[in-house]
Amino acid sequence: MAIAWGAVLSGMEIMRKIAEKYQDPKFNEAYLSLQSKIMEIQEDHIRLTNENEGLKKTQDLSSKVSFKRPYIYLEGDSEPYCQKCYENEGKLVHVGQKDEWDMGQVGRICPVCEHIGHEKWRD
Ligand SMILES: [Zn+2]
Repeated sequence: MAIAWGAVLSGMEIMRKIAEKYQDPKFNEAYLSLQSKIMEIQEDHIRLTNENEGLKKTQDLSSKVSFKRPYIYLEGDSEPYCQKCYENEGKLVHVGQKDEWDMGQVGRICPVCEHIGHEKWRD
């Protein structure tokens, strides 16, 4: 949705000149009220445009990721991502190298949230 802000602003400029020329209190009041409403709409427009862009990115991303326990995978990337970071914050964070620790547990640790993706619990 593109708003022709240039046209809106030049319309306002014409109204400002008329307000100056005729000095009609009712017209001036209406002009100032309209001007402040337009500023509110402009701010809303910027906010919504940014919000919409964020949503589009999230939607694009969610169509390219898949969950294969215990990790998240991104299309075209064989390295796993942290499930917790993705599900909580929508962020893709590569998990560390595969590691093995006591009692035969195998998994990878997220460098950001330290969540452990268990590939194997115990022998
Ligand atoms: Zn994480």
